[in-house]
Amino acid sequence: MLLREVDYARPATVEEAVSLLAAHEGARALAGGQTLVNVMKARAAAPDVLVDLVDLAELRTIGFSSDGLLEIGAMVTYTQLVGSSEVEVARPILAEVAATIADVQVRNRGTVGGNVCVSDPTNHLPPLLVVLDASFTIRGSGGERVVPADEFFVGVYMTAVGEGELLTKISVPPASDTGDGFSGVTIGKHGTYVVDAAATVSGEGARIAIGCVAATPVRATEMEERLAGGDFSEDAVREAAKGLGASLDPPSDVHGSADYRRSLAETSAVRAVLQAVERRKR
Ligand SMILES: Cc1cc2nc3c(=O)[nH]c(=O)nc-3n(C[C@H](O)[C@H](O)[C@H](O)COP(=O)(O)OP(=O)(O)OC[C@H]3O[C@@H](n4cnc5c(N)ncnc54)[C@H](O)[C@@H]3O)c2cc1C
Repeated sequence: MLLREVDYARPATVEEAVSLLAAHEGARALAGGQTLVNVMKARAAAPDVLVDLVDLAELRTIGFSSDGLLEIGAMVTYTQLVGSSEVEVARPILAEVAATIADVQVRNRGTVGGNVCVSDPTNHLPPLLVVLDASFTIRGSGGERVVPADEFFVGVYMTAVGEGELLTKISVPPASDTGDGFSGVTIGKHGTYVVDAAATVSGEGARIAIGCVAATPVRATEMEERLAGGDFSEDAVREAAKGLGASLDPPSDVHGSADYRRSLAETSAVRAVLQAVERRKR
């Protein structure tokens, strides 16, 4: 289906982009277009103005802040993540997971900012960024604010980014005495997840988040509490996961019943934690 007519702006600076978004009610930022253009074609969204972020070079960089955080610009593509030496050094799980998103065309166009701003419960990055304790920098006409991952994802297609605001970067603490894991079941090899789990383990315990079981990633807090003592043996991890599925209220659809998703959540959480434990040893 063809797009309906829409005004198109291509700002040269972040300030200009924010002004355009603020000036036009219902204007939408256009990043890689891998979701937005499709939902516009399906008439599920009909913005009057598209503010294309393609020329905003400052949103395309990957680097480190003065206090050592890995900083990923909102317009960084999955392909850039996969090839980044900074990501490889600081948090290689990000590249590993990005490399499995959809296909090469989607990875060449799709952006980290778009992935999180669309807040699709089946997208790969939200649960991962939650366990990595990422923070999100949002700019609006009133200035800049930083939102932690636990507060960024608000609902399906809803985030802490408000009308007239732009996500500019995501900051991730670098790995130190930590190991990260990601596991789940997809529809086809590089397809959408039915359920996924992300985990990070350290001397202080584990952070675990489950994706695809609710509108936003769900922290497996009871499992985290049971692992707080630092016993990451396979038996302890399996025991800690018991009851996780029952605590969830996932949807049923053509890809799996709620009970199947509950079962997958426990299995995926165990696998993600054990993978993280193994990597921490290296
Ligand atoms: C065939 C196919 C399969 C896919 N499978 C998967 C999958 O399995 N897993 C997965 O994770 N993803 C998948 N995707 C989605 C893909 O990852 C998209 O890239 C992502 O959801 C949106 O990123 P984008 O850069 O294309 O953003 P766009 O489509 O351009 O934008 C998405 C939304 O985010 C907003 N937005 C974008 N950037 C910003 C910003 N900086 N500040 C404020 N708002 C912003 C836009 O206004 C829009 O509302 C798939 C896509 C396709 C086409």
